Amino acid sequence: MRMRDLDAQKERMIRIHLEDRGISDPAVLAAMREVPREAFVAAEIRDAAYDDHPLPIEEGQTISQPYIVAYMLEALELSPADRTLEIGTGSGYAAAVLSRCAASVVTVERLAGLAQSARHRLETLGYTNIRVVEGDGTLGWPDEAPYDAIVVTAGAPEVPAPLLLQLAVGGRLVIPVGAGAYDQLLLRVRRVGNDDYRTESLCGVRFVPLIGEAGWHEGKQ
Ligand code: SAM
Repeated sequence: MRMRDLDAQKERMIRIHLEDRGISDPAVLAAMREVPREAFVAAEIRDAAYDDHPLPIEEGQTISQPYIVAYMLEALELSPADRTLEIGTGSGYAAAVLSRCAASVVTVERLAGLAQSARHRLETLGYTNIRVVEGDGTLGWPDEAPYDAIVVTAGAPEVPAPLLLQLAVGGRLVIPVGAGAYDQLLLRVRRVGNDDYRTESLCGVRFVPLIGEAGWHEGKQ
């Protein structure tokens, strides 16, 4: 597919799947328009880059559907000065969109191969405010805490305690949580005081499992 056709598909995705379904944060919409989603998927499926469903990436993982990426980032209530953390780098797409709405992004991926290819892709595309690190994101990334916003892009059995502790007071955490590994409720947790958190349920979602010390145990989901 030619670039012009992909651009037309992107505009259609923004109008039909984002704006018409209630996404209204101008920064999120501008970021979704700016980031070339086709650069985050394999060449063979590039034509489907702007379809509104998840797509496969390496190592049996997925790049989330555009609507869910936009919905989760809007739910974070981002400001340009925010320092942010993403758990589950995958292709690096959501980190790229997040980086357009915030000052900095640390993104943690447990699979070394995915972390390496996302780092390379993001560097090649010129994103300079994203740091891709390899590790168990259920433990967060304490070196650069606290964060104004944390987004988790894999489904957890419960909210990992380390992420709550790494949230700044006033910060927001958006995370899929559920007893079934592929069937969760999207939660937004606000840290409203040192020991005071408020949780809201946003909608039902379906994510690959968050595997780690404070998540699912490998092979047990
Ligand atoms: N945000 C990604 C994107 O834009 O392409 C999609 C993320 S994919 C749905 C979920 C990712 O979470 C997978 O790459 C998976 O390996 C990763 N993951 C699962 N458990 C993790 C953990 N404990 N720490 C970090 N990453 C984890």
